[in-house]
Amino acid sequence: MLYDNFMKVAAAVIALSISQACMAESPPLTRAESSDYLATSRYADVMTFIHDLQRQSGLLRVETLGTSPEGKQIPLLVIGDPVPSSPADLHRDERAVVYFQANIHAGEVEGKEAALMLARSLVLELSPDILDRLVVLIAPIFNADGNDKISQDNRPRQNGPAEGVGIRFNGLNQDLNRDGMKLESPEVRGMVQNVLNRWDPVFFLDAHTHNGSYHEEPVTWVWGLNPMGDRALFDFMENTVWPGIEKRMRREFDTLTIPHGDFLDPRQPEKGWVPLGPEPRYLSNYVGLRNRLAVLDEQYPYVDFKTRVQGSYHLMVSFLDLLHDQRDRIVTLTREADRRTIERGLNPTSDDVFIIDHDQAALKRPVTIHGYEMKVEGEGRTVRVRPTETRQTYKDVPYLAKYTAKQTVSFPKGYLITVGDPEIIGKLREHGIVVERLVAPVRLPVEVFTVSKLTGSGRSTQGHYTSTVEGQATLEEREFASGTYYVRTAQSLANVAAYLLEPQSNDGLVFWNYFDRYLAYQWWPEPKEYPVYKVYDSVQLVTETEVY
Ligand SMILES: [Zn+2]
Repeated sequence: MLYDNFMKVAAAVIALSISQACMAESPPLTRAESSDYLATSRYADVMTFIHDLQRQSGLLRVETLGTSPEGKQIPLLVIGDPVPSSPADLHRDERAVVYFQANIHAGEVEGKEAALMLARSLVLELSPDILDRLVVLIAPIFNADGNDKISQDNRPRQNGPAEGVGIRFNGLNQDLNRDGMKLESPEVRGMVQNVLNRWDPVFFLDAHTHNGSYHEEPVTWVWGLNPMGDRALFDFMENTVWPGIEKRMRREFDTLTIPHGDFLDPRQPEKGWVPLGPEPRYLSNYVGLRNRLAVLDEQYPYVDFKTRVQGSYHLMVSFLDLLHDQRDRIVTLTREADRRTIERGLNPTSDDVFIIDHDQAALKRPVTIHGYEMKVEGEGRTVRVRPTETRQTYKDVPYLAKYTAKQTVSFPKGYLITVGDPEIIGKLREHGIVVERLVAPVRLPVEVFTVSKLTGSGRSTQGHYTSTVEGQATLEEREFASGTYYVRTAQSLANVAAYLLEPQSNDGLVFWNYFDRYLAYQWWPEPKEYPVYKVYDSVQLVTETEVY
């Protein structure tokens, strides 16, 4: 039924576009469509498209996700029937909120065109079934700064559009899909504040285009993979969503999909298929840590632009259909994940751990990849592996997307922070983590982490010479003054809080240099105490709750 509706709208749009000149209120076309896929939409095109849709439909409202470093307002479309004026309207509402964003890397533009098409399909259908159960948020042009810096030199291996595409970075030269934990870009900060914290969508999709292995499947995607995420959500993505999307894409759109990845060794493709990695600096992994369903959509760069736009659009439509079908189950799953997270924080056991290093293993279900015979060219350091013209199907390739614990530390009831550093406390609150303060001094046993060695990385990552620490954890009794900051783990964002505050976390505030000034010595080497103390004791801490 849903597909029928989408197809009807698509047909109507095509018909109307043919006679557009004589129609006063034709559905708007994307620049990709109107240029026969030779060009991609500029920022001004996107805004005009949105305003045209708004003029034609009452189902769409536009909020601002944030302001880019170069001063552009980043539009957030809110689509509903009726369209909510704020999240407060949804308190007694059965509808679940879902969120799609595109163009985070502004050379990867097909998601932007697809997201605009998705908005048009949703609001121009008279009574689309989908809006009975869902409120759909869409940010079609997440990286507005990078979008208009169009050149044919950008992403040269990508197959069109011929006129060229924008650049990967925002106006501060930041890679927005590495900013999930440090939140240093106005775009990602805005998304966390104005989408995740404000609307609390149960589902998140981030649209990209890959640069990697050669295969016939034009559409790849994968879910949030960080192993600190909720097990039931992983199981649902792996066992229900993966086959559900695969089936919808094949049946409704005659499109092959595979989970996102690259060959572990292109010389021997059958050895394994590996995804990008589990770190929450990647936004889909970050949203997974927040106990919500998250998807990284990676279109295949070597097929033509029109195929990629349609692949992205059809993937979004397939997800909307699945979300519509599974709405009750998804809402229950995410609520249960929050409940389990809070319960663990109330009484963590020795089985509860934080993972500081992981192993990689195969999921139960292998993947079949329609690839090519590979040939090796060159020698030594110039060796390159390239596909031949000969097709070859690689069956039962292990999909190495299961990250497991290799090295762990104990998961606490909470973290006491003795430095009132506004950058550190502010960063926690930007994520939506509840930070409290003690209203009376307290003496209690805590775990103290003494840093014996702090190592800065030899090269810069996202503008940081990142820090890693070695040290010793000991249990000691300590007194904490009134006013000490406290982050309890009995909160739904506890996994994000632990990820930010654990000293040996691979994506935390120590790693991103926020604690350097407290840990690096000025004159001579000396062990330094990490000013964050883990609480395991059942002593009731008296706090003045500050909710953000
Ligand atoms: Zn990308």
